[in-house]
Amino acid sequence: MNDYYEILGVARQASQEEIKKAYRKLARKLHPDVAGPDAQDQFKDVTRAYEVLSNPEKRQMYDLGGEQAFGAGGAGAGFGFQDIFETFFGAAAGGAARGPVPRGRRGQDALVRLDIDLHEAVFGTTRELQVDTAVVCPTCNGTCCRPGTHPETCAVCHGRGSVQRVTRSFLGQVMSTSACTACQGHGTIIPDPCQDCSGEGRVRTRRSLRVEVPAGVDSGTRIRMAGQGEVGPGGGPAGDLYVEIREKPHPAFVRRGDDLHCTMAIPMTSAALGTVLELDTLDGVREIDVEPGTQPEQVITLRDLGVGHLNRAGRGDLHVHLDVQTPTRLDDRQRELLAELAALRGEEQPEPRLAASGSGVFSKLRDKLSGR
Ligand SMILES: [Zn+2]
Ligand SMILES: [Zn+2]
Repeated sequence: MNDYYEILGVARQASQEEIKKAYRKLARKLHPDVAGPDAQDQFKDVTRAYEVLSNPEKRQMYDLGGEQAFGAGGAGAGFGFQDIFETFFGAAAGGAARGPVPRGRRGQDALVRLDIDLHEAVFGTTRELQVDTAVVCPTCNGTCCRPGTHPETCAVCHGRGSVQRVTRSFLGQVMSTSACTACQGHGTIIPDPCQDCSGEGRVRTRRSLRVEVPAGVDSGTRIRMAGQGEVGPGGGPAGDLYVEIREKPHPAFVRRGDDLHCTMAIPMTSAALGTVLELDTLDGVREIDVEPGTQPEQVITLRDLGVGHLNRAGRGDLHVHLDVQTPTRLDDRQRELLAELAALRGEEQPEPRLAASGSGVFSKLRDKLSGR
């Protein structure tokens, strides 16, 4: 298929010196800067053949297995091609970009943090932010030139952004192309840079920005504001600004996903007799029906009073954990009444009863461990 020896025009027993000599001769003839782009494929074939045969290990592998020994790459896309190219012709050859490079480059993204409280996370909010970023220089409008002046065509490369040089290598004289150092490849120079931005085309400034915080954001949520990041060098397009949310803890409500949890203490008598409690939720005061016979740590769920779902309709729930409190200090009259109640209920000397493992203290313990 591709006989590397044939490509280089050498015998199978050729010495390293002969291989090198043959390649040198062919490369001089076929180099793209000499023979033009038409010879490029042939030049790559030759270079690949040389790359394999000049390396004793690879040559041995090739002799044993042919080109298949190196995978299905085939001629042209040879591994190490760029390396060997650069070894012979310098890093700037071959891969060097032709044509002037634009002065403006895209700026970097920026990140700012925003502290919000639970109420803002639940309902969303609009906030005013102070950000320090690079913006387009208002004096030169990003052109980098002092007002009234203009960029001038680079006298060294005549606006091409690159220069051709004749370099001497062991292949003889070779033309190579590299970026113009006088204009850094831009093709133009700025004779009179803008004073306000030192010819950067951008200046740092503090500005105020409105950010829409949607309902449902949480600590770590990032809001992307396209084009509000850093303006690039040379007045290049701005990157994006990311606003990272940090939610401050609430004194009463704990957030788990989009649900909220709180604990309300109620006296034992209210739990037994039932009552109506008023709870100050994030949506205002709500009445909570405590049924007669409510058990310790019973949970009452108020639908749709939690955090708004991010990017979709609906809200989480608010779970009210009831904490039934047993009175600790009784006066004589109270003790008398409770004793009378106990007598009426036959509870003066209660029988020890084991509760099922799915209820009572065990399930409470399990809930605690699972972080309810
Ligand atoms: Zn300027
Ligand atoms: Zn130049």
